[in-house]
Amino acid sequence: MKTIPYWLDDFPRPADLPTAPLPERIDVVVVGGGYTGLGAGRTLARNGHSVAVLEQGNIGNGASAMNGGQAGPGVKLAIQEVFKKYGPELGRQVWQATLDSMTLLEETLAEENIDCDYTPNGVIMAACKPSHYQAYAAKTEWMQQNLQYDRFKLVPPEQMHTELGTNIYHGALVDYGTSGLHPAKYLFGLARAAARAGAHICENTRVEKITRHGDGFTLATSRGPVQANAVLLATNGYTTNLVPQIQRGVFTVGSYMIVTEPLPEALQKELVPNNRVIYDSKWFLNYFRLMPDGRMSMGGRNNLSPNLDVGESAQILSARMIEIFPQLKGVPVTHTWTGQLGVTFDLMPHIGREEGVYFAYGYGGHGVALSAYLGKEAAELMTGKISRSPFAEVSHQKPFYYRGNAWFLPLAAAYYRFLDSVS
Ligand SMILES: Cc1cc2nc3c(=O)[nH]c(=O)nc-3n(C[C@H](O)[C@H](O)[C@H](O)COP(=O)(O)OP(=O)(O)OC[C@H]3O[C@@H](n4cnc5c(N)ncnc54)[C@H](O)[C@@H]3O)c2cc1C
Repeated sequence: MKTIPYWLDDFPRPADLPTAPLPERIDVVVVGGGYTGLGAGRTLARNGHSVAVLEQGNIGNGASAMNGGQAGPGVKLAIQEVFKKYGPELGRQVWQATLDSMTLLEETLAEENIDCDYTPNGVIMAACKPSHYQAYAAKTEWMQQNLQYDRFKLVPPEQMHTELGTNIYHGALVDYGTSGLHPAKYLFGLARAAARAGAHICENTRVEKITRHGDGFTLATSRGPVQANAVLLATNGYTTNLVPQIQRGVFTVGSYMIVTEPLPEALQKELVPNNRVIYDSKWFLNYFRLMPDGRMSMGGRNNLSPNLDVGESAQILSARMIEIFPQLKGVPVTHTWTGQLGVTFDLMPHIGREEGVYFAYGYGGHGVALSAYLGKEAAELMTGKISRSPFAEVSHQKPFYYRGNAWFLPLAAAYYRFLDSVS
C-alpha cells in the first residue's frame, strides 16, 4: 500500500510546469500555491499586477492535490444556520457566492482548457438515520422557499438501490449542483493558467518572516528576500504564526483517504450506478466516490488530529468501506494518505486583513470550488477592483483560548462522537 495521495501518483506534477526565479521586488506576493493562492495569482496577473505565488514545497504540497474532489455549492456551516446567524440578506449573498464559485470553476476549466475528469453528475447525501432523512426533506423545502434552489431531489429509502448498492442508508438527498473532479489535474491546470497569465510561480520557497514597513513588506524566504507592496496569505490548513492574528482565526484538522484498486465495470455500476460523488449525514462524515479509473475511494476521520498514522487510518476506513459495501471485501487498498483542512471557529470561510496582510481561508472541507473563488475575491479586494465580499463581512470568531495550539481537538472530537450517537 502506497502512502502518497493517489491523485499525485496517477497524475504527478508535470515536468514542464512553468517555474520562475524569485523576484527581488513585486506588486503582490501570495503565500501558498493551492487553489486559493493560484486563483488569486491568476486573477492578479490577468488584471495587470505583477504577482509571485510562493509555495514552500512543490505545487501539490497542500490539500488541493489530496482531497476528495467533490466540488459543490454551500459552506461548512449549514445554510439555514448561516441565515440564522447573519440574517437573510447576508445569508443569501453567501449562498449566491458559493453558486458563483461553481460558475467560476466551470468557466476556468473551459477558458483554460483544463481536463480534470469533470463529472457534473451531482452528489448523494446519504441519511445514516431516519431522522436525518426527515431533516433532508425539511431542508429541500427550506431551500426552495428561501433560495428558490430547485436542484435537490429526495431519494426515499425504498428507492435507495437506484443510487447506491448498499442497504445501510435511510434515504438520501441528491444535489444536482455538485460535481466530481480530479483534484491534481485541476490544480496543475490552474497553476499553468496562472503562469500563462503572467504570475511567477516560485516553488520550494518557504516564507519565514513578513516584516511590514512604511511602503510595503519584506518577506524573508528560504531562497532570499522579496519586497512587495501587498501580501496575501493563502495557507489555509497549513497556516503557521507568520502573522499571529491571522493564525488565531483558523486551526488545522486532518482528513484521511484510501483508494482501492480499479473495480470491474459491472461492480462499479452496482455500487454507484449514476456515478455521483457521495457523503453521509454524520458529524464525523464519510465521503466516497468512484475515481475516474473505477477505483473506490473512501475518506473521513474518527478523530480531528492531523497526525494519525495513515496505516491505522487505512484499516479504519477499509472497515467502514466494507460496512457500506460488503461487496468490496477482499479488494486490495492501494493508497492511503492524509491532508490538512483549515477550519474556523464559526465554520465559515473568511477573507480579512491583519497587520496589513490579507488572508483567505477556512473552507472546512468545502474548498474545492470555493477556495479559488475566495482567492479571486481577496485579490480583487486588495487591488480595489471590488469593494466588498460577503466573506469579508461575516464576523470572524477568534476565541481568547487559541493562540495556535489546538489543544481542544480531542474534546471537540469527543463532542462530535457524542452528537453522532444521539442525533
Ligand atoms: C483529505 C481531504 C479531502 C478533502 N475533500 C474535499 C472535498 O471533497 N471537497 C471539498 O470541497 N473540499 C475538500 N477538502 C478541502 C479542500 O481540499 C481545501 O479546502 C482546499 O484545497 C484549500 O485550498 P488552499 O489553497 O486554501 O489550501 P492548500 O491547498 O492546503 O494550500 C496551502 C499551501 O500553502 C503552503 N504553505 C503553507 N505555509 C507556507 C509558507 N510559509 N510559505 C510558502 N508556502 C506555504 C502549503 O505548502 C500548501 O501547499 C479536502 C481536504 C482534504 C485534506
